[in-house]
Amino acid sequence: KLSQRLEKVANYLPENSIFADIGSDHAYLPCHAVLEGKAQGAIVGEITDGPFYSAQKQVLRCELSDVISVRKGDGLSVIEDGEHLDCITIAGMGGGLIKKILEEGKKKLVNVKRLVLQPNIHAIYIRQWLLENDWELIDETILKEDSKIYEILVAEKGDPLKPYQNIELQAGLLVGPILAKEKSPIFQKKWSHEINHWKTILKQLEDAGYTYENNDKYREVTGQLQLVQEVLS
Ligand code: SAM
Repeated sequence: KLSQRLEKVANYLPENSIFADIGSDHAYLPCHAVLEGKAQGAIVGEITDGPFYSAQKQVLRCELSDVISVRKGDGLSVIEDGEHLDCITIAGMGGGLIKKILEEGKKKLVNVKRLVLQPNIHAIYIRQWLLENDWELIDETILKEDSKIYEILVAEKGDPLKPYQNIELQAGLLVGPILAKEKSPIFQKKWSHEINHWKTILKQLEDAGYTYENNDKYREVTGQLQLVQEVLS
């Protein structure tokens, strides 16, 4: 059975799509998506030997070798020039790494309709990249599983500023413009937790004699705190 996290990623695949799952590890997501009829076929990309072999094994075990191609390589380099793909999924990594994979593989994204990205941390890096590269965030999900909080970002080519019409840009990039509008209990929990963490940092800085006037970190944390407090209020 697939984790709730990957199940939600799979639910964002366009119908009957052919997609690439980059950093797939066991290839659970592509195998599940094809077996459940959510996708027609997939490319599985893995950079590391161990996960690459487990992906190969899983595809063989599911008897899906004719529709799922397992490839070893860095990021989007496993996609051949001109290869048709409806969607790319990248899940279970930090936002910084996902952004790097997208940036380095930009050429491979020309004909891709949808990106489904699931950063474990630092979703802000991905939102910034989407904004700079004309991808419009069309949906976001936040979920909690095994006491960890995950975000899923879905983007298509479009007007990258559209989701930020009703939120201050910096705040929207940090917390997610669609998640901020929805304000789910998990979202509120995540950011109240961050706020408490930032307050502790400010207190520590104050105890060490730092102030808003004389310390960069103090100013940076205060800025974030105010942005997020405004979103939650
Ligand atoms: N996508 C799966 C999930 O969400 O459960 C697996 C996530 S696993 C934590 C991250 C995987 O990404 C690892 O198997 C790692 O080898 C792979 N990976 C990291 N950097 C990569 C890159 N540049 N290109 C392809 N795969 C990469």
